[in-house]
Amino acid sequence: MTPTEIRIVRGNITERPVDAIVNAANRTLLGGGGVDGAIHRAAGPELLVECRTLAGCETGHAKITKAHGIRQAKHVIHTVGPIFGKHHGAEAGLLASCYAESLQLAVAHGCKSIAFPSISTGAYGYPVEQASRIALTAIRDFVHANPGSLDLVEIVAFSEHDYKTYRQAQDEIFVDSAGNNA
Ligand code: ADP
Repeated sequence: MTPTEIRIVRGNITERPVDAIVNAANRTLLGGGGVDGAIHRAAGPELLVECRTLAGCETGHAKITKAHGIRQAKHVIHTVGPIFGKHHGAEAGLLASCYAESLQLAVAHGCKSIAFPSISTGAYGYPVEQASRIALTAIRDFVHANPGSLDLVEIVAFSEHDYKTYRQAQDEIFVDSAGNNA
């Protein structure tokens, strides 16, 4: 069985050639700024039409649509990250749940590759040093619990600082008890 590759890349998530790209959406699922705006612009108005049928999404959960005008992907998975400081200490669990639910949905829809943005670290204010560790821990736990279910999980960092922060977190988290990369 080929192990799942976990890759940090720098770029624009709308251009990643993967089965599913993840959107850091808000609870309405009706579009917003940041990565949400970029995904809706790239996917075209049919994405909003499909999102209107979903009746929103709660924080920490995820819903799936087609990718519409984003031709190199099949699906968009819309997840709603926590707003930092607004969930009475539940932020870390909610953020981890965004990653876990998105991965679960991807596998349930036959996706073998998925790309995440840095959920909650833009308008929602989560410090990227903390968010990156939560993200990579949730991804590691899913991959270990579901061996062979995915070929590739990417995190797409939009800035050089985010890229370096996620690389650092990856080095810390993907190390086994013997000190080897796992
Ligand atoms: P949130 O509301 O969950 O904080 P944002 O969209 O405001 O979501 O920000 C999440 C992250 O997505 C930020 O690091 C932001 O720089 C990044 N981002 C914005 N546009 C893109 C894009 N096209 N591709 C990848 N990441 C993006």
